[in-house]
Amino acid sequence: MNDAASLPVVIVGCGFSGAMLAARLAEQGQASVLIERGEQMGLGVAYSAVLDAHRLNVRSERMSARPDRPADFTGWLALHAPDFADPNGFAPRRLYGRYVQDRLAQTEAAHPGLIRRVKGEAVRIEGETVILSDGARVPGRAVVLATGNPPPRPTVAGAAPRRIADPWSPDALSDIAPADDVLILGSGLTMVDVVLALQA
Ligand SMILES: Cc1cc2nc3c(=O)[nH]c(=O)nc-3n(C[C@H](O)[C@H](O)[C@H](O)COP(=O)(O)OP(=O)(O)OC[C@H]3O[C@@H](n4cnc5c(N)ncnc54)[C@H](O)[C@@H]3O)c2cc1C
Repeated sequence: MNDAASLPVVIVGCGFSGAMLAARLAEQGQASVLIERGEQMGLGVAYSAVLDAHRLNVRSERMSARPDRPADFTGWLALHAPDFADPNGFAPRRLYGRYVQDRLAQTEAAHPGLIRRVKGEAVRIEGETVILSDGARVPGRAVVLATGNPPPRPTVAGAAPRRIADPWSPDALSDIAPADDVLILGSGLTMVDVVLALQA
């Protein structure tokens, strides 16, 4: 029998929130299990971007993952990507993903055994136990849902063979040929990112 207090905190989702929560817990000597269904830990949708044109929408000097070290991200950029080290600049999101992954790995190394990574999809919670799609059970003393935002929902009715409902899904734009005309519905930040991706 497990003593509940000795169980880890179970964190579902390892984007920015899950990764940095596990890191902060480890620094306090608390164990956690990170469950992520995607291939990569620490990226989530926002920081899985691959193009340099896909930038943060916040200046680098305000993107530290550590409130106690405001220059943490700009210091990391100076070391790992000096071309983007301007604190007032808007760095590529892919670099921010690498920063989150680095900081998670660094914390794991400094606090061995406190963070366990599990690749899988959480489908149900029973009490404080998370059940994965393969039936595995991950018991904890608390469960944190760090699953981010749901994928975009189509708000326009009707089917079109070449309609792309989620521009952030992998390879969403890869079937578009250079001569194709593309109609984009919506005019926010995702539209800007899609235009930049099509131009590239
Ligand atoms: C395109 C885009 C650009 C953005 N740009 C910025 C920016 O410049 N600056 C900024 O501060 N914020 C930005 N954001 C907001 C950004 O998403 C948040 O700041 C932050 O990344 C959210 O982190 P999260 O961990 O909550 O969610 P996410 O990063 O979405 O992570 C959630 C994770 O949970 C996993 N998951 C979900 N369900 C399950 C399940 N059932 N089982 C297992 N795993 C699961 C997902 O695979 C994912 O990895 C942007 C968002 C988007 C979509």
